[in-house]
Amino acid sequence: MKDQYGREIRDLRVSLTDRCNLRCVYCMPEAMHFKPSDEMLSDDEILRVVRVAAELGVRKVRLTGGEPTVRSGLVDLVRRIAAIDGMDDVAMTTNGVLLARLAAPLAEAGLRRVNVSLDTLDPEQFHRITRWGQLEDVLTGLDAAERAGLSPIKVNAVVVRGFNDGAAPDLARLTLDRGWDVRFIEMMPFGTVAGFQTSAYVPSSETMSKIEAVLGPLHPIDTTGYDPARTYRLEGANGSLGFISPVSQPFCAQCGRLRLTAEGRLRLCLLRDDEVDLRGPLRAGASDKELRERFAAAAYRKPWGHGLARKVIPRERIMSQIGG
Ligand code: SAM
Repeated sequence: MKDQYGREIRDLRVSLTDRCNLRCVYCMPEAMHFKPSDEMLSDDEILRVVRVAAELGVRKVRLTGGEPTVRSGLVDLVRRIAAIDGMDDVAMTTNGVLLARLAAPLAEAGLRRVNVSLDTLDPEQFHRITRWGQLEDVLTGLDAAERAGLSPIKVNAVVVRGFNDGAAPDLARLTLDRGWDVRFIEMMPFGTVAGFQTSAYVPSSETMSKIEAVLGPLHPIDTTGYDPARTYRLEGANGSLGFISPVSQPFCAQCGRLRLTAEGRLRLCLLRDDEVDLRGPLRAGASDKELRERFAAAAYRKPWGHGLARKVIPRERIMSQIGG
């Protein structure tokens, strides 16, 4: 399946819920209102969409949210997704808080790997960023993920001025000490949080300089295939360091990704409000053929890229309502 610019659509991010057990300052307000559960796709509805995507050539699904691990029945849902013909790679992006008890059953159900969001290794800083979180829970979750054989383990950190802009060298050290891949993400602006996100934005170039000043030169890694991160290695490290720079160095030309929101809307670009509803047709009894056609037609219309450079900011949803 290709879009109108010839990009292969190979990757679907599926948001399992808009709810989260943390309240990261750069993601959502503390007093967040969530959608009623009957507006969310059921397990069967999610499975139907993922099956249709697989029939159209999507090979990779990443479960996200909100926080995917707060969805009830998650392990069974993962088992059913992993069993879909053609779905080669089932991954998850999580804050890691509940991984201590979920990592082993998820791995057994067919989850291949996890990206764990962790913005600092300082317990106080962590609590200030996440508002509700305890660093220890995430570290225990990461250990459980490693023991369960989820691999590779990637740690994702969003860099936020005034909160964790000094945390990068400590996080980068995880590539030496633990062999995990660590990726730093530039903060993107969304809806009602955009003012804060723009004022506290830190470019990847600054994060790279801070790491090099403490840990020495970053050596570029030659990568084949699509990776939104530009990757490097510190001398002697087993893990890689990645920089995902949607603001300073957009990678739209290679983007082959679509997102399914928890209430069943196909989002064509993370940073644009264009969406196509799939829940309506699903609940109105659409056939698989009709769903395939609607999915493929939406994918074809994927916008060329975001418009941040021209100050076009998505207004309708914040990150937790899209599925990051
Ligand atoms: N709750 C899960 C987690 O924490 O990984 C999954 C959903 S969360 C929205 C997915 C990722 O988006 C996290 O790594 C989070 O740090 C990141 N994120 C949230 N808001 C962001 C923003 N404004 N810009 C860049 N990344 C953001």
